[in-house]
Parts: sequence; C-alpha cells; structure tokens
Amino acid sequence: MIEENSIAEGWQDFANCLGVDPDLFFPERGASTREAKEVCRGCVVRGDCLEYALQNSEKFGIWGGMSERERRRIRRQRALERQASEREAIIQIVPDSKAIS
Ligand code: SF4
Repeated sequence: MIEENSIAEGWQDFANCLGVDPDLFFPERGASTREAKEVCRGCVVRGDCLEYALQNSEKFGIWGGMSERERRRIRRQRALERQASEREAIIQIVPDSKAIS
C-alpha cells in the first residue's frame, strides 16, 4: 500500500490508497482485510501493485487487493509453472531425458 508522504512514482501516482490510513492495509493478525480490499478493488494500478509486492516478496499487508497468504499461493503457482516449463525445455533439448526423470 502506498503512503501519502512516500515518494510516489509511476504507477504509485495513481494508487487508490494514497491518503488512506495505512493501518487499514496492515491489519492485526486475524482482523478483517475487507475494507482494504474494497479500496483496492477500484484501484487502476492494482496489477502493478500486486506485481511489485510479488517481485519484492512483501511479507505483510494487502497489496494489489491480496493478502500475504493469497500472494504466497500465486508465488507457489508461478514456481510450479516455471519448473514445468524448464522441465519441458530440457525434454526438448535432450529427448531421452524423459526416461531419466
Ligand atoms: S491495489 Fe490497493 S494497495 Fe495497491 S496501490 Fe491500489 S489501492 Fe493501494
């Protein structure tokens, strides 16, 4: 989430959360994330925000409308897809590698 006094640049200039109470995006463990996600829902830079959080492994808070648990799921899914495509590339380079794996 983007704080109002942060040096905003690029996509951050268009964040829906500029000026919104940061505590909303960093709720206590077990507290509701509904209000923060509601702010994110209408944000035009939601995708950029989510990618930023994924690339920087943001561990806390709501980014791109997603909690850390939800982002972790995406990171896991991407890692599996990466492994599958790497495996596929090896199989194409070394056709007999299918028998090895
Ligand atoms: S998606 Fe949510 S946290 Fe990210 S910039 Fe938009 S309003 Fe802020």
